[in-house]
Amino acid sequence: MPTTPKQFALPTVKISPRGADRLKQGHVWVYRSDIVSGEGGLPGSLVAVTDQRGKPLGTALYSSSSQIAIRMISRDPVADFPALLRRRIADALAYRENLVHDTDAYRLVFSEADFLPGLIVDRYNEVLCLQVLTQAMDADLVRETVISELTQRMNLASILERVDPRVRELESLPPRASGLLQGEKTATTFTMNGVQFRYDALEGQKTGAFLDQRENYAAAAQYAHGEALDVFCYQGGFALHFAPCCSHVTGVVSSRPALEVADQNPSLNARDMEWIEANAFDLLKDYSTSNRRYDTIVLDPPAFAKTRRDLDAALRGYKELNLRALKMLRPGGILVTCSCSYHVGQSTFLEMLADAARDGHRTLRLIEVRGQAKDHPILLNVPETAYLKCVIAYVSY
Ligand code: SAH
Repeated sequence: MPTTPKQFALPTVKISPRGADRLKQGHVWVYRSDIVSGEGGLPGSLVAVTDQRGKPLGTALYSSSSQIAIRMISRDPVADFPALLRRRIADALAYRENLVHDTDAYRLVFSEADFLPGLIVDRYNEVLCLQVLTQAMDADLVRETVISELTQRMNLASILERVDPRVRELESLPPRASGLLQGEKTATTFTMNGVQFRYDALEGQKTGAFLDQRENYAAAAQYAHGEALDVFCYQGGFALHFAPCCSHVTGVVSSRPALEVADQNPSLNARDMEWIEANAFDLLKDYSTSNRRYDTIVLDPPAFAKTRRDLDAALRGYKELNLRALKMLRPGGILVTCSCSYHVGQSTFLEMLADAARDGHRTLRLIEVRGQAKDHPILLNVPETAYLKCVIAYVSY
């Protein structure tokens, strides 16, 4: 393997046989507990990774603070990091150009899944929203390279950064405010599957919208009918897609700011909808005991299992929601039920749903078992990149 002087100059981190095996399986993370030596690397620096005998395993980004100490960036030596960043961004854009249709809002860079660990870039029409999750991606040189490449390749009004203060704290990075990195525009309108949404880059959750559900909105709208209830609706992603095919659509969420945006969206689409601010667990309990009935129900709660330890409690939460929704669906009804917890795997989620159907004396036929939209790619050898489940099922009594 040719070694340039720059590569030679990279600090070397030696990892244990267990860490090396993980990389050989195709994973891209090494935990701190698998580092044998070379931990003195500068926070966020590029490092050469070797096994215990000194055999090169590739080049990685180092974090002095995260439990994930090493995130691989290449199997090869890297002589020119900015050039690699530019190439990776070009590849990420090309993937979307080939595979993403019917939308001007989508995830342009999805961290590990686009070989740019720690960087997220979402496009909302002519506004880009960036999230930096690691020490390495926070470096000035990296930021400048990423912004200049995106600006050259796209026709943009502005680029903003959304900061998660908890992430910066975990990465031992100094506090930083969310805001504009380039341009002036902070709000716009975007269109996905022909449905228009208001976007304010400095408000809301995630980078503004749940782009990972984009294809599931369109899939679910094929079967939605009659009276529909969108539970945990946020700004109304499912609800707005259902408006043309349902007689009445109600969205429920506990967050008032989300509902304020949701309320502006129907006017963009000339639809009349109903929004309810409520705790979904309480509302479903009230509605199911008072025999309210619907033809279509969506359940899209926040991640109940943030860690493996939360799994049992999470499954109880999912089961309660699903059981109540099943009782409220008329025969021939459609259940759209989601989980964005990585720790709840697809088979576990389906088992929970089978239990709920059995306890609720309902029969479920699976129409579609879906995941996250294609702009949130799944790396086959990195299971953590697959997190969203969306099951669409037909209810019989
Ligand atoms: N379906 C939405 C995304 C839902 S994210 C979309 O496609 O855009 C989950 C939402 O549920 C968040 O907005 C969160 O604020 C809200 N939420 C969290 N706990 C809740 C609860 N107990 N009752 C109602 N809403 C809740």
